[in-house]
Amino acid sequence: MDRSQRLFQQAQEFLPGGVDSPVRSFTAVGGTPPFIRRGRFSKVWDEDGNIYTDYVGSWGPLILGHAHPHVVQALMSVLQRGTSFGAPTETETILAQIITEALPSVEMVRFVSSGTEATMSALRLARAFTGREKVIKFEGCYHGHVDALLVKAGSGAATLGVPTSAGVPAALAQATLVAAYNDLEAVQRLFEAQPAEIAAVIVEPVAANMGVVPPEPGFLAGLRQITREFDALLIFDEVVTGFRVAYGGAQTLFHVEPDITCLGKIIGGGLPVGAYGGSREIMGLVAPLGPVYQAGTLSGNPLAMTAGISTLRFLKEPGVYPRLEERAAWLVAGVREAAVEAGVPLTVNRLGSMFTPFFTPGPVFNYATAQAASTHRYAAFLHRLLEAGVYPPPSQFEAWFLSGAHTETDIEATQAAVASALAGLAQTA
Ligand SMILES: *Cc1c(COP(=O)(O)O)cnc(C)c1O
Repeated sequence: MDRSQRLFQQAQEFLPGGVDSPVRSFTAVGGTPPFIRRGRFSKVWDEDGNIYTDYVGSWGPLILGHAHPHVVQALMSVLQRGTSFGAPTETETILAQIITEALPSVEMVRFVSSGTEATMSALRLARAFTGREKVIKFEGCYHGHVDALLVKAGSGAATLGVPTSAGVPAALAQATLVAAYNDLEAVQRLFEAQPAEIAAVIVEPVAANMGVVPPEPGFLAGLRQITREFDALLIFDEVVTGFRVAYGGAQTLFHVEPDITCLGKIIGGGLPVGAYGGSREIMGLVAPLGPVYQAGTLSGNPLAMTAGISTLRFLKEPGVYPRLEERAAWLVAGVREAAVEAGVPLTVNRLGSMFTPFFTPGPVFNYATAQAASTHRYAAFLHRLLEAGVYPPPSQFEAWFLSGAHTETDIEATQAAVASALAGLAQTA
């Protein structure tokens, strides 16, 4: 780790914390983050020449693994024609069409450059459509670093213990109402208290930013029903779940249709992207068609669109999702078994190819129960895994992502590394 250590020191002189996104700094788990030099398929190489089987996958986008030949080839051919025009290109329509065909609730989309922009714009749109200002979000859900949504947020905010950021105007924070995930009654109570003031409910249909927490049966359908009853919009933040839990997203898996869908991560195939979409009626409010202003210099960037198109085309091939499901189930079964064998209380939540091992007897069904997990144990676990060539997300409250590039050999090696890490933990506890 000599070179990574030196690079990290240099980075800290010029970048706050040496990083451009807080969780990457390893603040939550201690130690020096390996500086990554390259990636291919399921592996990443750090600057010191160590090889890891990667379960971060750039925090979700890389469902095909690193440098997938189809994506790289498509990018190379587009790259030579120029990187950005600030004018319409055919790639935007192609990706939009693929998305609208995959998500029945989405008739039109607007591309932006990050998931944060997608949720920020979706809120503005929901407020404009309903003429109301308040929104309901769930504790531990993360929707990017939008002011109004950095209230009791998950992801890095949960990791660093600052779930509500400094610098968020009180007036904005007050317009954000918070309920516990999987608690329909709390949502019902909030609506009953102010039936004509809530513009929208925004939810991660499968929470991934307090660690993976699936919706309980009826939760999403209940949100759909309550929002209809009170004439509010339902926003699914599918930035993680879109094309991760199924071709389409959580809405195709659970058969619940939101009014507005936010996308990002996978639809950009590893390049910066976001999108929001919905019915023609709702999207008709977006400029230049309507009065909701939203724009972007690099929005619909041809490289990002191309990486997205080639990724989604590959995902549409039959067998991709069943294979991910099968491999992830197998991997997690091994992790659970190893925990029992080592006598370490562990709850592994999984949905499709994303999962989180929580160091708690569980169950984990919302933010409070996720917070019962031992971050100390997770940190010790992570460092043992890194030593063994497995790269997990550097926080207890994040999702591990399996990609189509993870081989049976990778999974067996990971299970062995996990078993020995857990056995080691049990001894030092
Ligand atoms: C990652 C994420 C975002 C933010 O996306 P960025 O591209 O990082 O701005 C929003 N919502 C969810 C559910 C996410 O996981």
